Amino acid sequence: MTLTKETRVTLNDGNTMPILGLGTYAAPDVPKSLAEEAVKTAIDVGYRHIDCAFITGNEMHIGNGIRSKISDGTVKREDIFYTGKLWCTYFSPDMVRKGLERSLRDVGMDYLDLFLMHWPVSLKPSGASDPSDKDKPFIYDNVDICATWEALEACKDAGLVRSLGVSNFNRRQLERILNKPGLKYKPVCNQVECHVYLNQNKLHAYCKSKDIVLVAYSVLGSHRDRNWVDLSLPVLLDDPILNKVAAKYNRSSAEVAMRFILQKGIVVLAKSFTPARIKQNLGVFEFELKPEDMKTLESLDRNLHYGPFREVKQHPEYPFHDEY
Ligand code: NDP
Repeated sequence: MTLTKETRVTLNDGNTMPILGLGTYAAPDVPKSLAEEAVKTAIDVGYRHIDCAFITGNEMHIGNGIRSKISDGTVKREDIFYTGKLWCTYFSPDMVRKGLERSLRDVGMDYLDLFLMHWPVSLKPSGASDPSDKDKPFIYDNVDICATWEALEACKDAGLVRSLGVSNFNRRQLERILNKPGLKYKPVCNQVECHVYLNQNKLHAYCKSKDIVLVAYSVLGSHRDRNWVDLSLPVLLDDPILNKVAAKYNRSSAEVAMRFILQKGIVVLAKSFTPARIKQNLGVFEFELKPEDMKTLESLDRNLHYGPFREVKQHPEYPFHDEY
């Protein structure tokens, strides 16, 4: 199938998701106005899928960007696929809807296209009862992921969100949701770190077998924000083999890194706040990697997590103790 920027994948609930999305995470010191401008540029050049999260702290700015493109007539609300994420301090069933309503208010929408459980680990802020307090150190909580999921299902029934999914779940955690007695809606996707150094083949095969779409983040080797990423890890876009393949196609290493994941049937998120790169990254739809080059890129896998979220490593639901 020829991939274009208009290509969408059909989710297991019948809704569709554009195969390329704009990522919006930036370190806290990056001016929020850049996020708003990036969203406007992205919509102007044809992106229709925007990925964000409460914890990113810029839903308001992303929402401003989207709404300004709706009010100038470039797009309609229904053209945009907006993903939000329920932060881990909102997992208790009585807080789930509040977490979603907080995102709806910040982004200025009356529904989200997709809402994800951000990580499978429930947390609570220490010494405060306000789950929106991002600056307080958090402590572990023990809310069952299935209880959170049921509360999310109620939010879909209430029309606040069109599709429900998860992020950073391992196979066992996906199975727990899928095997939950009385399950009403399956997760439509699992959004995970996925790139040439972490190709997620096993998790992808499992998700595919359950009609769950894999959505890849950090495809370009992550934001490399020191708050989340160990900066001694190799810079993915500098990889010599990736660059050799890119030279062969006269493309950037970013385009090849993204194309590799797209050709595996995985939805790609790529973050850029640089207008020229936002446009350049659409070049992924202008070439196709040959099977031998896909094979070469497969060989780069080294199970490398740029964002292992080590702060929750002792949490009973920490997802990366399992092989996948
Ligand atoms: P990416 O792998 O998308 O990389 C982003 C970095 O690549 C930025 O520094 C950007 O720079 C740079 N970049 C973009 N395009 C190019 C290019 N053509 N050439 C060279 N450099 C380029 O990073 P993320 O880790 O941010 O992942 C993408 C998105 O996935 C996030 O923004 C977020 O929406 C989501 N995510 C979800 C997580 C989850 O737990 N569910 C965790 C992490 C991310 P610049 O902006 O300066 O152009």
